[in-house]
Amino acid sequence: MTMAARDIIAADAPSHVRGAAAPPLLDLSIGAALDAAVARHGARDALVVRQQGIRWTWAELRDRVDTVAARLLALGLAPGDRVGIWSPNSVEWVLAQFATARAGLILVSLNPAYRRHEIEYALNKVGCRALILAPAFKSSDYAGMIAALAPELAHCAPGALQAARLPALRLVVCTAPQPPPGMLAFAELQRDAGSAERAQLAAAAAAVDPRDAVNIQFTSGTTGAPKGATLSHRNILNNGYFVGRAMRLSEHDRLCIPVPLYHCFGMVMGNLACLTHGACMVYPGEGFDPLAVLQTVQDERCTALHGVPTMFIAELEHPRFAEFDLASLRTGIMAGAPCPVEVMRKVMERMHLREITIAYGMTETSPVSFQGAVDDPLERRVSTVGRVQPHLEARIVDERGAVVPRGTKGELQVRGYSVMLGYWDDDEKTREAIDADGWMRTGDLGAIDAAGYCSILGRAKDMVIRGGENIYPREIEEFLYRHPQIRDVQVVGVPDPRFGEELCACVVVQPGATLDAEAVRAFCRDEIAPFKVPRYVLLVEDFPMTVTGKIQKFMLRRLAGERLGLQAPDGGAA
Ligand code: AMP
Repeated sequence: MTMAARDIIAADAPSHVRGAAAPPLLDLSIGAALDAAVARHGARDALVVRQQGIRWTWAELRDRVDTVAARLLALGLAPGDRVGIWSPNSVEWVLAQFATARAGLILVSLNPAYRRHEIEYALNKVGCRALILAPAFKSSDYAGMIAALAPELAHCAPGALQAARLPALRLVVCTAPQPPPGMLAFAELQRDAGSAERAQLAAAAAAVDPRDAVNIQFTSGTTGAPKGATLSHRNILNNGYFVGRAMRLSEHDRLCIPVPLYHCFGMVMGNLACLTHGACMVYPGEGFDPLAVLQTVQDERCTALHGVPTMFIAELEHPRFAEFDLASLRTGIMAGAPCPVEVMRKVMERMHLREITIAYGMTETSPVSFQGAVDDPLERRVSTVGRVQPHLEARIVDERGAVVPRGTKGELQVRGYSVMLGYWDDDEKTREAIDADGWMRTGDLGAIDAAGYCSILGRAKDMVIRGGENIYPREIEEFLYRHPQIRDVQVVGVPDPRFGEELCACVVVQPGATLDAEAVRAFCRDEIAPFKVPRYVLLVEDFPMTVTGKIQKFMLRRLAGERLGLQAPDGGAA
């Protein structure tokens, strides 16, 4: 399909776009959507968890979800209670997601990288009454951290905790076969529920309204203190549905999900996209490992693959990449951070992801608001985040809040069904984020062209101002990605007494590359304006990241400033 002439509007029209009004929004709870998947695709594969040897159909998955849901209620949890999950990707994670939704409970997704201080803050902020945890992952001893925060566990019966530092928490469930004292084994939640327990679940499930809260996700923490974005069934189920639709997902698809489940990318764009289209969820492992992804795609004949750009880069660059047969792949989503054009081209050519789409979104909007279509013109598909999703509106505004003309840069704002209910217990932050008319301020800079395609041009605060000249690091990163010896690059501003800020490119080179700083600058010199040529080039091994694969630019800025011995005017490091 090419763009219809009517989609192209006058260039001076305002940057305000509306998504399609059809098909209608789903008016279902997540539990009801699970029943619908079983009715349509009951005997088909629903879930494969490679590291745990799990392979369940939709019918099996629902049975197990209902058991866990019934047991959670029988343990004294009541609809609306918050249940934390602190674990890498696992079968227990997906059971917790669907079981809490089924029972009208609110799942609190906790970042597997959190440490003691952050977990205490998050559990108390939203008053988690129960917590499901893995015993440990990588260097994190989850059970040990909770036992240290709640030493009272050593002397309490499971479910009867009274802890001074975690006052709301009563029940701690551990996925280890032999849980530590005071914790219940997850296996106890999988023991057959009796008929009274089933009846209690049926009543709770029937009372769930799609507009009820179902999930709290803490925003990724690249800046400031984490805030608990509270999302409803309607928010995330519909987002999963429309994201899957844009990928043309169906019951014939098998989606490889290497992105974390605690984030919307895994639990909405992965799990709920599959649920609403009958596709199979395939987890290659607990955490991201490029080799496990390549192996899983081949062995499971996956047709779709999600990832943040750095994940796709790691897969493409893996020394054993050529050994794997990836011909089953068709589609997937690249999102979560700026997606370099070159990386998009490579995954299309070398990984057979010819129908891959870029999506743009944020936790507070469930998350996706823009996404490419599989039949968008190639150039648009690799260089923009596509057009606004159905039932959503988006606009670009200037510093004063006025809508700018098409093609002009400004802050992107989004309105519609996907906007979160609010930040948990934080009306002030909610009011700062969502204006009185319902517009979510994304804090991202973008531009919408005449045909409605949106380009993300960076975070408002990433912009570098060099001697009064605004520079968008994204633009220079895109340019540098074209150098064959550059594997990954991030551009940041560092302090400078004369210009206020100077550009610094932090470059990861390809193995065996001979590139040095001067060669990088020479590559730029004839091609881009002199003020955009990075004054500094640092060769680095990697970038500071959040677990979701988002580069922590503020940290990178500080590290670059320190390495260059540059001081911010206030005397602190850059
Ligand atoms: P989170 O709430 O963790 O999902 O982070 C949301 C942020 O990720 C957005 O505000 C953007 O800054 C960034 N982001 C997500 N998707 C994209 C994309 N496709 N291109 C550029 N930035 C993105």
